[in-house]
Amino acid sequence: MPVPIIRSRNELRAIVAGWKAAGETVGVVPTMGALHAGHLSLVRAAKAGSDRVVVTLFVNPRQFNNPADLAAYPRTEASDAEKLGPLAVDVLYVPDGDQIYPEGFSTTVSVAGVSEGLCGTHRPGHFDGVATVVTKLLLQTGADRAYFGEKDWQQLQVVRRLVTDLDIPCEIVGCPTVRESDALALSSRNLRLSEAERAAAPALPQALDVAARAIVAGTPVAVALDDARAAIVAAGFRSVEYLELRRDADMAPTESAEAPARLLVAAWLGDIRLIDNLPLPAVERARQAG
Ligand code: AMP
Repeated sequence: MPVPIIRSRNELRAIVAGWKAAGETVGVVPTMGALHAGHLSLVRAAKAGSDRVVVTLFVNPRQFNNPADLAAYPRTEASDAEKLGPLAVDVLYVPDGDQIYPEGFSTTVSVAGVSEGLCGTHRPGHFDGVATVVTKLLLQTGADRAYFGEKDWQQLQVVRRLVTDLDIPCEIVGCPTVRESDALALSSRNLRLSEAERAAAPALPQALDVAARAIVAGTPVAVALDDARAAIVAAGFRSVEYLELRRDADMAPTESAEAPARLLVAAWLGDIRLIDNLPLPAVERARQAG
């Protein structure tokens, strides 16, 4: 069954109202399209957790701080719709631009704290764009649950914060990162890597893995991070934008392997910016493993 494509928020609202009147729950999976197995894992989680599932496809201009990146972002609506058919998604919502940003639009949702540092520093305005569009998509869909990937860990924290702060009655569900067999995290941007760049790309998750193990084995955090940066550049990356250890609880920087924490990285491979993150293995588990 082809997935019905809806482009108007009023039409979407009418459909959702019908579902809710029938007592059905609604899950939403916000995406920017160019769907891959990572997105589809969110859709499967949504199908398992809600009666009805809406996937949204909107390449949000406000979250791109670089116009060239926005222009080059893959737009593959027809094949995206085909991928969703077999998953029995109820609606693919592809809002026209004015359904999200009508003339005169003047509101920005800005989340402090968790949006600072990391991508927040290096992509000015990015999380304001994300927070604004996610707020709109949650309100337009009226979803009971929304599914986001841990691949974009900082984004997930920003979304959790805004839903709490704005009393939006939607549960945020984080889903694990889906990876290629060589550990590269699936990303729409991988499509733009040359053959040589694609071959070099797994160095990013490998460096995170080596650093995470070293830190729980007792290597000082600064040393492990320096080694990881060197390994990433030696593999052919142009530069490492950031590589940090942050606590899970509040995203604060940490030098300790005791509390749950994760490594977060952004690095440039040619003109492509890749991000990834990895939790530290539990210290106890690492000690037992010897
Ligand atoms: P995007 O289309 O890149 O905005 O991503 C839409 C959603 O898919 C976001 O919640 C991402 O975190 C999630 N996502 C992207 N890549 C992956 C992946 N490799 N594994 C799991 N979720 C992902």
